Amino acid sequence: MSASLSRKSLFGGAWDSKADPIRPPWSLPETAFTEICTACGDCVAACPQSILLKGRAGYPVVEFSRAACDFCGACADACSESAFGSRDESPWRLTAHFGDGCLSSRGITCRVCAEWCDTHAIRIRLEVGGRAHPQIEEAACTGCGACISICPVKAIHLEEAI
Ligand code: SF4
Ligand code: SF4
Repeated sequence: MSASLSRKSLFGGAWDSKADPIRPPWSLPETAFTEICTACGDCVAACPQSILLKGRAGYPVVEFSRAACDFCGACADACSESAFGSRDESPWRLTAHFGDGCLSSRGITCRVCAEWCDTHAIRIRLEVGGRAHPQIEEAACTGCGACISICPVKAIHLEEAI
């Protein structure tokens, strides 16, 4: 770990869903991560789900359009630096959110995300007139991204829980 890292750079600063890419689970906060990570790609190669890619400057990013994260920890295990935190902690605070493109919200029958979610974190709330809105129970959502990879119109994204 770089000796110049301050406690604030390690633990401070909220994740900004618009500016910050999604790093692998258990990654340190963005500033610390990019100071420590050497962009070697070992975590990318280790991921059995093939959801890690080399992003800007070679740092790993998660690409959920391919598959979900199963939280196996292979990425963290493969890291020879100290770019990952304790696996005793939650892997991240990301939860699913639904955008305007959702088919159910537009009156088209679709329950794929709810059926695909292992933790039953998505409920489809029916409304008068045939429309329905998916609702997320944040406490049950692990941020695995399974719903993102399966959504036919890519209407789901992850945001950090407040
Ligand atoms: S925890 Fe496993 S599945 Fe998830 S990104 Fe890391 S290596 Fe891939
Ligand atoms: S991210 Fe995973 S746990 Fe959360 S709603 Fe989607 S499928 Fe369910």
